[in-house]
Amino acid sequence: MIHGEYKSFYEALLPIIPKERMFHDALSTLAYGTDASFYRLIPKLVIRARNEQEITAILQQADRQGIPVTFRAAGTSLSGQALSDSVLVIVSHGWQGWQVLDEGRKIRLQPGIRGGRANTYLVRYGRKIGPDPASIDSAMIGGIAANNASGMCCGTSENSYKTIADIRIILPDGTVLDTADPASCAAFRTSHAAFLEGIAGIAAEIAADPELTARIRRKYKIKNTTGYSLNAFVDYSDPIDIVKHLVIGSEGTLAFISDITYNTVVEHKHKALAMITYTNIALACEAVQILKAQGLVSAVELIDRAGVRSVDQTPGIPSFLKTIGPESCVLLVETRAATAEELSERVASITAGIGNVATELPFAFTTDAAEQATMWKLRKEMLPTVAGMRRSGTTAIIEDICFPIEKLAEATVRLREVFAADGYADAVIFGHALAGNLHFMFNQDFATAAEVEKYKKFMDDVVKLVVDRYDGSLKAEHGTGRNMAPFVEYEWGKQAYTLMQRVKTLFDPKGLLNPGVILNTDPLAHISNLKPIPSTRQIVDKCMECGFCEGYCVAEGLTLSPRQRVAAFREIERLKASGEEPHRAAEMQKLFRYAGEQTCATDSLCNLHCPVGADAGKLIKEFRHESHSPRGEKRAVWLATHMAGVTSVLRGFLKCIHTLRLLFGKRVFGALARGLRRLTGGALPLWNEYMPTGARKFVPVDSPVRERKVVYFPSCITRSMGTTKAYSEEAEVTRVTASLLEAAGYQIIYPEKMDSLCCGMLFSSKGYVEAGQKASDTLKTALLAASENGRYPILCDMSPCLYTMKANFGDVLPLYEPAEFIERFVLDALPVKPLNEKVAVFAVCSAKKMGVDPCLKRVAERCAREVVVVDSNCDGFAGDRGFLFPELNEHGLRDLKRQVEGCDEGYAVSRTCEVGLSRNSGLVFKSIVYLVAHAAGIDTRK
Ligand SMILES: Cc1cc2nc3c(=O)[nH]c(=O)nc-3n(C[C@H](O)[C@H](O)[C@H](O)COP(=O)(O)OP(=O)(O)OC[C@H]3O[C@@H](n4cnc5c(N)ncnc54)[C@H](O)[C@@H]3O)c2cc1C
Repeated sequence: MIHGEYKSFYEALLPIIPKERMFHDALSTLAYGTDASFYRLIPKLVIRARNEQEITAILQQADRQGIPVTFRAAGTSLSGQALSDSVLVIVSHGWQGWQVLDEGRKIRLQPGIRGGRANTYLVRYGRKIGPDPASIDSAMIGGIAANNASGMCCGTSENSYKTIADIRIILPDGTVLDTADPASCAAFRTSHAAFLEGIAGIAAEIAADPELTARIRRKYKIKNTTGYSLNAFVDYSDPIDIVKHLVIGSEGTLAFISDITYNTVVEHKHKALAMITYTNIALACEAVQILKAQGLVSAVELIDRAGVRSVDQTPGIPSFLKTIGPESCVLLVETRAATAEELSERVASITAGIGNVATELPFAFTTDAAEQATMWKLRKEMLPTVAGMRRSGTTAIIEDICFPIEKLAEATVRLREVFAADGYADAVIFGHALAGNLHFMFNQDFATAAEVEKYKKFMDDVVKLVVDRYDGSLKAEHGTGRNMAPFVEYEWGKQAYTLMQRVKTLFDPKGLLNPGVILNTDPLAHISNLKPIPSTRQIVDKCMECGFCEGYCVAEGLTLSPRQRVAAFREIERLKASGEEPHRAAEMQKLFRYAGEQTCATDSLCNLHCPVGADAGKLIKEFRHESHSPRGEKRAVWLATHMAGVTSVLRGFLKCIHTLRLLFGKRVFGALARGLRRLTGGALPLWNEYMPTGARKFVPVDSPVRERKVVYFPSCITRSMGTTKAYSEEAEVTRVTASLLEAAGYQIIYPEKMDSLCCGMLFSSKGYVEAGQKASDTLKTALLAASENGRYPILCDMSPCLYTMKANFGDVLPLYEPAEFIERFVLDALPVKPLNEKVAVFAVCSAKKMGVDPCLKRVAERCAREVVVVDSNCDGFAGDRGFLFPELNEHGLRDLKRQVEGCDEGYAVSRTCEVGLSRNSGLVFKSIVYLVAHAAGIDTRK
């Protein structure tokens, strides 16, 4: 329930922001409150803002009422800066605008674009954005710029601070400043003269103090994201330039970033990588200093012995790493060049340059992409492996410090001493050595006061080591957040800290933007508001709530993302166990049914992209399973063992519906169907014009005996669902598939009792485990027999069914997805001539999970003039979800119409998804087999 000042805040915004995008219920506030850090604050109100007008209205209302506001992009921050216990404004959907400028040398980006996506816009220009955090595929531009995030290659020269060309910001008073627009700058100079004077005043004070100026310059020679970007005052003289750079790294505490223009950097095609082992870290660091001085490398990643040990069991990791010495250290050294010749020269110079530093094992640079990928795997596996090894109920902590590079070796040894003294001996160290930036990772229990105290003591010791001994940075790239806010003054000293306070007051006099972040007077802020991580279920216990899953989840932005599902589930379980806040627990549980359970596609795409292998899709399947009564389970088993009857009833039902539609016409029947659905409270599926009629019963005919044989299993879906009105003159997909196979010279073998077979997905996706297993076992037996124990390839015409089959018995049978089979075995056997058509293709999530999604595109390219690949991870149809919760399907395909503009037809490999794709685009989608058949001149008519 929203009340008090937040109620009036909410009501004041209602005329501007629809209530569907403002949340104050117990479930949404908890779910949206979660970011990747180990802190938790629960906002009173969450707003999904979509444009500048809304941001301005929020900021002005906040100013009027004195209510704090925090912005959130992807919420992958690790230091607690994307959280709020007041108003949290999500800036992702709706902030997707971009424009490539100056032949790719610049790019203008809105804050909701993920970094990896921004780079895809630049590929054709051979360029990329400078900042390269490891989280780039998930993190969004707003967060990348506001954290001044960086990564393996960008160092201190290609981060947002260094590569920003222009920025458009909204100040807490609602004023917009666009530094790319001279008129905006001129107006700002007049309207905010006093503010700019204040900025200029700080710059003058710093300039008048050579010692402070030198210290600021020195501190930014290495990576530093502790406090505000004071280097703006020494690097620039025009106050607007200073403002532009101060906003970078300000973690949403100074202004809202509405868009940013980056100067892009060259993305060299030619790369060489070497894994070099040294017997100790001092030697490795000696090599790092030479590499730094040479300036020929793009990345040097250091991994200490404990780090190597944590991953040396990972499949694919070079075996020699198991045998290196107890103090050894590994460097991954990468160099890039515009041409192969230049690359060879670089490799030669680098090798000669570090030739005098003795290595433990001989090394060589490789230009082979696969070998490089294996080496990078070592580095990339570190985080998930360490996090994955943690005890259930504990938190994975990644720290992020930076030492002057000449002190790196000594500092690393001292750091290990601190680990040993404070009880963190198994912490692992890795990092961007070239920039002096080390991450260390360990797993922390925050469940008891003693453990919290242990962490506090450790952090105090780390702070002293970094600051007192080396004048390093307490945060190199992850941002100060709440985690280092209590130590900003310690690192920078009183004078610089006071200047930072003045910066904050100038921008945000009432202190309403993201309070508690960067500057925080509470000395215990770093150990306050710790997020509880209760042990719940094994399938999600490893989840770090990092948010890497969110970009791949079809429900994200409609209801809950996988991370939010896990966070909500954990909190519900915690409340239930502790008996705390029973009303809140009950409210959350009630809302979770729709937001968490019913609108989950259970496709587990989240699992595919989860660093620690958590699977929210499986969790939801477990819930579905547990919600079934024993009678329901029995009914499901009965259905699974009577599939011939089930498909026959379904065929009849669909034919009936189709006949009624033809009788009444589209409008009347549509209205009737909608009315019935409303009357039944959504229990009846939503009808749409692309619903198929029932298929004619597929009766296999004996195929002529041939040398080439294939087992064809038509799924229960394609045996039941026929064509739609839009292509009713054509035969069903089962018949077209059979024609295609025969034309390609195959003898088709059908499994015995084909009509009663099913892969089991129909049942298992709804949590009917036993029924699913029974169906799967029967199918496996039938396919083993039909294929003579796997002698012949087996084709199924539905990608999702094939995926289920692969998961259940893919190890014993050669199973093929339609597009994959066509590409490998059919295309070359047919006289295919590309049709003069522009077609759209959509690889359903199961094809993506099996890694065969590129086959669909390649097949279509052989058969049509132009191919548009629909850019969406999952269409959200998810079996029956598309009929029962069509909003999920609509949300998943919200951008489809625009993408398929000008296409003649659409193709996929899932009959149910094709219904949703057609409904949401107006373009008829059908199986890829039709396109191939047409291109090969095969008659597909009934
Ligand atoms: C596994 C893992 C690996 C990581 N690796 C790296 C790494 O290599 N390097 C690195 O630097 N970081 C890394 N991070 C941290 C994090 O991913 C990055 O800092 C990232 O840039 C944050 O982006 P985001 O979109 O998630 O921002 P959020 O977390 O949503 O927000 C970050 C900050 O920006 C502010 N903000 C967001 N949008 C706006 C806006 N429009 N205007 C003003 N302020 C805004 C927020 O208030 C917040 O303070 C990693 C995180 C994880 C979980």
